[in-house]
Amino acid sequence: MSRRVKCPRCSKPTLFTTENPHRPFCSERCKTIDLGAWADQQYAIPVKPSSEAGSQVDHETESYPSDHQIASSGENPNVH
Ligand SMILES: [Zn+2]
Repeated sequence: MSRRVKCPRCSKPTLFTTENPHRPFCSERCKTIDLGAWADQQYAIPVKPSSEAGSQVDHETESYPSDHQIASSGENPNVH
């Protein structure tokens, strides 16, 4: 029971059987290269960083008013 397919990576005729652990690829090399290309495509789509930056801006605006209050309350005793 043997079937032949073309290696998706290099188009080389490859045996599609349980004896070929890298099927449908012709070799481990072609399999690794193809999986690596897929991983690269996934890492190339940044979605999270923009939402994390939004929460950081929220924290900064919260600390601004409290800084001003501490500065003005520190000046008051001096003037009095
Ligand atoms: Zn190949």
